[in-house]
Amino acid sequence: MSPQFDVIVIGGGAMGSAAAWQLARRGRSVLVCEQFSAGHTRGSSHGGSRIYRATYAQPEYLALMRDALVEWELLEAESGINLLSRVGLVSHGFPPMDFEGPMRAAGVPLEVLSPSDAAERWPGMRFEGKVLFEHSTAGRVNADLALVALQQEATRHGAQVRHDTKVVDVVHHPGHVEVVTEGETFTAGRVVLATGGWMNSLAPRAAGLAGPLPLDVIEVAPAHFSLAEFLPSGELNPMVEDTWPSFTHDHAPTDPVTGEPSRWPGIVYGLATPGEGIKVGFNAYGRHVTADTRTFTHAPEDEVLHRDYVRQWLPGLNPDSSEFLSCTYTKTPSNDFVLDRCGRVVIASPCSGHGFKFTPTLGGIIADLATEPDDAPGVSAQEMFRLSSHLT
Ligand SMILES: Cc1cc2nc3c(=O)[nH]c(=O)nc-3n(C[C@H](O)[C@H](O)[C@H](O)COP(=O)(O)OP(=O)(O)OC[C@H]3O[C@@H](n4cnc5c(N)ncnc54)[C@H](O)[C@@H]3O)c2cc1C
Repeated sequence: MSPQFDVIVIGGGAMGSAAAWQLARRGRSVLVCEQFSAGHTRGSSHGGSRIYRATYAQPEYLALMRDALVEWELLEAESGINLLSRVGLVSHGFPPMDFEGPMRAAGVPLEVLSPSDAAERWPGMRFEGKVLFEHSTAGRVNADLALVALQQEATRHGAQVRHDTKVVDVVHHPGHVEVVTEGETFTAGRVVLATGGWMNSLAPRAAGLAGPLPLDVIEVAPAHFSLAEFLPSGELNPMVEDTWPSFTHDHAPTDPVTGEPSRWPGIVYGLATPGEGIKVGFNAYGRHVTADTRTFTHAPEDEVLHRDYVRQWLPGLNPDSSEFLSCTYTKTPSNDFVLDRCGRVVIASPCSGHGFKFTPTLGGIIADLATEPDDAPGVSAQEMFRLSSHLT
């Protein structure tokens, strides 16, 4: 029996949609099964903004980033939808590794500023340590529109995208795989699991793993803040939402004034979501949950933390104007992605809170994995992303 589809992609978030686009562009027959409706907010890929930046020290991520810029532009051209806003990214503070050297070696255009020069240029922000400005290759990407563009273009190239279609099992047969949904059963030569925080519901059985993947689902709650009309100095705030640069802040381990250990958990990031304000979040801060039992709420201490951070570091924002969001990170212990193939099943979990910027390129790698020869398991992905690097 010949299968109905070359590849069935389970999960219509950023990664499943990008895989479907790349596979369909290559002439493969593709079905995407997504358990929720279009535009749902229960995974990791919703919302109007994601940071887009090459602030990485590892050559693997810098290479992904170089390719991603080309692929985003291709998707924009194909779809006619503007996705990237190159407002730049300012990173400042005391990162544990050097970014400047590897970024310059990778040809990323950069400017190095002193904290006072940076504060003069962006008076709504305060800076410390080393300030790097990635001016022309960074900014933000509109996540909601990216999903629209990917699914629209995947469909235009012949893919079928089915929402409200939950996959409950993947069954192996000689020569094909059966994908069982709540209503129907489909067959394919290969299956992609791009199921985000639900990965461990299907992956161990479908891919024949000895146990669950080492993935933690964490509910995070960044918040939007409105722009202040005036700076604390009384001057008019010259910064505007649309051109507010994206930023990351590796704060000092001790508070420069009190000498006490810093109270900010992990790296702080921020970026504009036009129409909603400036999003501010703590990268390593959230609650361990499961994708189905999370509460979509934030704790009162989150409000205090965000407000105090904004008051201290972002004088161009109203610290009391927080509007909280809810999203899930699916994290590996190393924060590196999982991209590999076990027989007919491709496992694609590129999150850990930093996957979106690479979406179309990761879609290409997932498509490579889904079409590589049977006897070359996982060779299409870098070693650091393979299952063997995570299952130690
Ligand atoms: C708050 C937040 C901020 C972030 N900021 C950034 C950023 O600034 N820059 C950046 O690069 N990255 C960022 N990320 C990370 C980025 O958003 C993720 O890497 C990316 O969205 C992951 O997409 P995904 O497709 O793997 O997962 P998801 O978006 O969760 O998609 C998985 C999909 O699978 C579906 N599914 C699951 N099980 C089934 C089933 N059995 N049947 C059918 N469908 C199923 C789900 O419904 C879901 O739609 C951020 C993430 C969060 C949460």
